[in-house]
Amino acid sequence: MTQVNLLDLGIEELKKFLSSLDEPPYRAQQIIQWIHQRGVTDFDLMTNLSKSLRVKLAAHSTIEFPAISLERASQDGTYKWLLRLPDGNSIETVFIPERDRGTLCVSSQVGCGLNCSFCSTGKEGFNRNLSLGEIIGQVWIAARQLEKYGNAKVTNVVMMGMGEPLLNYDPVIGAMALMLDDLAYGLSKYRVTLSTSGVIPAMEKLKTDSPVALAVSLHAPTNELRNELVPLNKRYPLEQLMPVCKNFFPVGSKRVVTFEYVMLAGINDSEAQARQLVRILTFPCKVNLIPFNPFPNTQYTRSDDATIERFRQILLAAGINAWTRKTRGGDIDGACGQLAGEFKDKTGRNERWLKTGRLVPKSINSRRG
Ligand code: SAH
Ligand code: SF4
Repeated sequence: MTQVNLLDLGIEELKKFLSSLDEPPYRAQQIIQWIHQRGVTDFDLMTNLSKSLRVKLAAHSTIEFPAISLERASQDGTYKWLLRLPDGNSIETVFIPERDRGTLCVSSQVGCGLNCSFCSTGKEGFNRNLSLGEIIGQVWIAARQLEKYGNAKVTNVVMMGMGEPLLNYDPVIGAMALMLDDLAYGLSKYRVTLSTSGVIPAMEKLKTDSPVALAVSLHAPTNELRNELVPLNKRYPLEQLMPVCKNFFPVGSKRVVTFEYVMLAGINDSEAQARQLVRILTFPCKVNLIPFNPFPNTQYTRSDDATIERFRQILLAAGINAWTRKTRGGDIDGACGQLAGEFKDKTGRNERWLKTGRLVPKSINSRRG
């Protein structure tokens, strides 16, 4: 029997694994508690397990994490970890403390294949999906590191690191279940958010598979512009995406979808575009305006604060709950959309890009209003 990495198993799979060792299912709960709640990974220290089970576990399983290859702390209390995976790829995880909460931004893939024009991860290309253990391992590592430093705690998780979580469906769902599980991280379903660029079939499935909060990366009020910023829009255009968002949470649940909208100077930030946005947001929702975070070689620039505020006021005046996201961790390249990791692109996109020196289609750069 090959050794199983217990970190890769959700609770049901762990029960199955234990039954293959002739052990009762309740042992799964004890093991989950040891690993995730107490941070114990040495079977000998799991004292409520029988000696014979500990011997079996040591023979047939391991508990393996990505290794921390770099930890950077920002002046504002933000941490960024570069994590090295066994195959040599690296991913990034960021922790952002605020007055009343601590948010961990978790990656779901090595790179991203969706190639949004304003996103550093997307521009680097795609390598592979993360395993369940590599996703929940980010939470485990952050929790342990923060425990060591003693002044902050993970209270929220956003699946907003590298990758499109809905294109790595099962491991992401399994990892989020552990985030919510009282025996593991015990986070509230309101405090775990999945962010997607709009993979409609997977959004439909998510409705019944996980109770977490949903954020949708909109970034443009028309198909024409969104096709260029978020190429996935060509496959799942606004007239299909918006009804799915409208019906995502059951009527009367009071929960609403959050729309993310990156503010790119001269591209999607005009007053006319704010009014166009109002016209497509015909149902209760929330809007998060994200000031663009630059990265090397991008041709975009961030909208200035006054423009962002004007845009926001138009949404507010139309009764839309709109916020501007504070940018944090910029001094360690840990802000939204700046995560790059270290990996070999399998799409060849990065190479093409560096050759042409052009990161976005020319047409975008000349567009206004
Ligand atoms: N793939 C998912 C989740 C990861 S990206 C998605 O696209 O939703 C998380 C958020 O960061 C998305 O809203 C994304 O559009 C935004 N983002 C990407 N690049 C950015 C940048 N350079 N500046 C600001 N936000 C960015
Ligand atoms: Fe992928 Fe999200 Fe970046 Fe688009 S914004 S390339 S979907 S990680």
